[in-house]
Amino acid sequence: MGNYCQKHCGTLQPYVPCCYPSTSEDKRTSYIADSIVISNPMVQPPVNLQPSQPVARAPAQRASLSSKFYVALYDYQARTTEDLSFKAGELLEVINGEDTQHSGWWHARALGSAHRKEGYIPSNFVAPFKSIEAEPWFFRDLKRMDAEKQLLYPGVEAGAFLIRDSETQRGDYSLSVFDGTSVKHYRIKRLDTGEYFVARKKTFLDVTALVEYYKRYQDGLCVRLGQPCEKKEVPEPFGLSYKTQDEWEIDRNSLRLLKKLGSGQFGDVWEGMWNNTTPVAIKTLKPGSMERKDFLREAQIMKKLRHPKLIQLYAVCSLEDPIYIITELMRHGSLQQYLQNDGGESIKVQQQVDMAAQVAAGMAYLESQNYVHRDLAARNVLVGEHNVYKVADFGLTRILKVENENAYEPVADKKLPIKWTAPEALQFNKFSVKSDIWSFGVLLYEIVTYGKMPYVGLTGAQVLQKLEKGYRMPRPPNCPLELYQIMLDCWKKSPEERPTFETLRWQFDDFFEQNESYFDSNTFVG
Ligand code: AMP
Repeated sequence: MGNYCQKHCGTLQPYVPCCYPSTSEDKRTSYIADSIVISNPMVQPPVNLQPSQPVARAPAQRASLSSKFYVALYDYQARTTEDLSFKAGELLEVINGEDTQHSGWWHARALGSAHRKEGYIPSNFVAPFKSIEAEPWFFRDLKRMDAEKQLLYPGVEAGAFLIRDSETQRGDYSLSVFDGTSVKHYRIKRLDTGEYFVARKKTFLDVTALVEYYKRYQDGLCVRLGQPCEKKEVPEPFGLSYKTQDEWEIDRNSLRLLKKLGSGQFGDVWEGMWNNTTPVAIKTLKPGSMERKDFLREAQIMKKLRHPKLIQLYAVCSLEDPIYIITELMRHGSLQQYLQNDGGESIKVQQQVDMAAQVAAGMAYLESQNYVHRDLAARNVLVGEHNVYKVADFGLTRILKVENENAYEPVADKKLPIKWTAPEALQFNKFSVKSDIWSFGVLLYEIVTYGKMPYVGLTGAQVLQKLEKGYRMPRPPNCPLELYQIMLDCWKKSPEERPTFETLRWQFDDFFEQNESYFDSNTFVG
């Protein structure tokens, strides 16, 4: 069978690794693609795979793996007396929980220590023993663009690498490696007989063996593999603890308010500590800012909405005023503030697109759940460590009685963020995922202008009038044409003609493949 570069040149190139480089310069000099029509992703593990060897098809296999043994992927510090602390790499035996409704927390035993302590563990911190997911270099859902972000970090050494699912060929993996200058990506494919390879001349029973080989020999790669890329983005456990998964009305005495972070339309927001162990954000709602029963009904829904790009609602204290909403803490506060503080100093187009991609990913999840945010804006996106951006405050505006906030102006009997809200929502109360898309266009404007007020100098009423006549904000200085086109798509008069978040998400993920010229000047992102 021939080997074709499917990604770039399309030529037949036997026995050389597939590499689709980041820059056009690299494209000329690096290896050309290999190809094998790969196996169906549902393919069974190869017959010659010994039982003791890794099986590289999780997580579909996760449930069916008879093994009760798991490896910790990250350190975890117990938050209550009922849960178990562990270190990355530690072996754990799951006693139960895997198939119960409490799938976010499992009861487990630590096998590393002599006393074999037992307790609850967050299930998203572990992977089945000997599965590919347990390997320090495996990053399952990482996108090519995010792989570059992980690897292009000041201080990263040549040879740093990771393996991820291929975006273009389901069932294949991709190897991303930093050669000292730029990141190269190689497709890891599988023969029909099950062996893995980068170049067909050298095949391996599993991906681990492949990694071990290329750690010893460069053999055609741009560089010999060195240290696996560090897993910096630690996931959030599901909720505060095993118990609060269901009992999420918590005792307000278990909270300590440490530092005021800001004030918003709801009231003050504090950095706090839960149970003396867990940093959290605490929103204290102004008395009378919403009906308790409305809030609890909405919060029930919000608690079920879980996505890495949405702020997780942990718990509430709703029995007395002020109501507290306890959520995950984001170290760098609101995106609006973050952008304004930077003002274009260090944030460049690559990071701006990344912000948009992450918000679109969170919103695509809300879209899939038919949940309308109603107040998407840079002030409601929060910034965490390692350039993580998450959407906050979804659903709250519906039940909020806003009093005094600049962005919110009176419309009929309510106050609304007019400059972010779609005309049909303002005029006919038609809120939908498509009105969220309109707001996303305005958020994009905020991102490229480093947090400038949209329609500056105009009142809400003037904006609405102008929009009705077909006016749209002009392209901000330095805004790539492609980004401006996306804004205009989001601001189409007819809601049906606006894109979906799912489409936007892919557009941003592919942005640099489609528009490579933006890459060269923005190689390093912090
Ligand atoms: P809000 O009431 O949501 O508008 O929040 C007011 C301000 O508090 C925001 O602009 C942020 O600076 C800060 N803030 C809100 N939620 C969080 C959080 N989960 N983590 C860190 N800071 C937050």
